[in-house]
Amino acid sequence: MRLVQESDYRFRIDPYGEMRVPGVVFASRALLPDPAADKALEQVANVATLPGVVGASYAMPDMHWGYGFPIGGVAATDVAAGGVVSPGGVGFDISCGVRLLAADLDRQELADPSLRALMDGLDAATPRGMDRRAVWALRDARQLQEVLTGGARYAVQQGHGTQRDLERCEDGGAVADADPGQVSERAVQRGLGQVGSLGSGNHFLEVQVVDRVYDEPTAEAFGLRAGQVCVMIHCGSRGLGHQICTDHVRVIERAMLRFGITVPDRQLACAPVSSPEAQAYLAAMAAAANYARANRQLLAVAVRRVFGRVTGRELALVYDISHNLAKIETHEVAGAPRRLCVHRKGATRALPPGHPDLPADLSGAGQPVLIPGTMGTASYVLTGRPGAPAFASTCHGAGRALSRHQAAKTVRGKELRERLQAEGIEVRGASWRGLAEETPEAYKDIDAVVDAAQGARLCARVARLVPIGVVKG
Ligand code: 5GP
Ligand code: MN
Ligand code: MN
Repeated sequence: MRLVQESDYRFRIDPYGEMRVPGVVFASRALLPDPAADKALEQVANVATLPGVVGASYAMPDMHWGYGFPIGGVAATDVAAGGVVSPGGVGFDISCGVRLLAADLDRQELADPSLRALMDGLDAATPRGMDRRAVWALRDARQLQEVLTGGARYAVQQGHGTQRDLERCEDGGAVADADPGQVSERAVQRGLGQVGSLGSGNHFLEVQVVDRVYDEPTAEAFGLRAGQVCVMIHCGSRGLGHQICTDHVRVIERAMLRFGITVPDRQLACAPVSSPEAQAYLAAMAAAANYARANRQLLAVAVRRVFGRVTGRELALVYDISHNLAKIETHEVAGAPRRLCVHRKGATRALPPGHPDLPADLSGAGQPVLIPGTMGTASYVLTGRPGAPAFASTCHGAGRALSRHQAAKTVRGKELRERLQAEGIEVRGASWRGLAEETPEAYKDIDAVVDAAQGARLCARVARLVPIGVVKG
């Protein structure tokens, strides 16, 4: 593979083998994955072989190895030209994403004992992993179907949140075309008890402070100001999304022979978007996307309850965005509008100012793009910019640099907690081992990743946030 540097933050992989389009990697040289340790660049090239792929197989600066597609991968296929959808281009945690809430409270107003009380309250109110607790005890599988079709919208209808919340959710809180009929009994069983639960490891709920504002008018439109307290929530579709991915990969794998599609990696199993197998996957994926949105909505309601009790203040939703999803969107390709299936896997949609899908009050500012860093470093709020490459997409985080196993060897959970506490970050973990796996050193440098994303003109910085307390899954 030959990697050609096109500019400071852009590299090209020229087509070789079965590649139909080039690969384009947005990164600084320092951020490029080490080919000896991480096969992500090879995965970018593999994705470029998918039927109907248009433009390029893109990778964001936080890229690293994933299932089939790299995490940080973006690829679009032309629906009318036999373009495919690949569950590996979405990932197992379907519609995993981030939501940011902003408080009418400044850091100085949150004195030390009340920060500790806030973190204890959030810790107690946040169901995590395998204990099968959840904020919302659903009545039965029929009610779960409502969640699968209605997402955060259904949660709000049931009294969990406000209309204003929905205006600040991607797609108004629910994606269309979800079909619970495409969700297996096993997925339903896994999903029933988990609406309003965080999940493990990389998922978190963090109290942050706006440390720096880069773009005052846009920050103001997002409801953000320097010194302000915020809460960031990162979670996805839990066991339900995982099971849906597993089930549909199996079906699509079997159907590929019939479609005459071959791929360089089994994990790139895919089917033409128009095929019954792809339609079934997309309908189930949409159901999982709605589940993830309801999940984040319920956690946010639980956070508000604790936050109100401890501080007497409210939390307004800045935005809720997914970073693992395939979407049918219209983009211009070679001068003509085309219907594309855009896969974003560990990548965030970043709509520019004026985009018709933005809520009216954000039209001038663009879409808030929420980028978590690590529990010990900064996180960012960005916005889309006009004419950006990669189908209006950018990074989704700092991106892993060490595997969980490697990370756990570098530090003990207890030491890490002490270190972070000494830096003024209250840590509430689920397990010592889990905490060690999430050490900030396990991730790339978030400031460098965002510099590269901005340098590549994928997005623009709005604000930088720093953690003061974290509830880890
Ligand atoms: P992923 O969806 O790929 O699991 O994670 C997205 C990103 O979240 C990671 O690339 C990482 O940068 C970020 N992240 C993981 N844990 C934490 C945390 O505890 N706090 C913050 N602020 N970010 C985190
Ligand atoms: Mn996830
Ligand atoms: Mn995620």
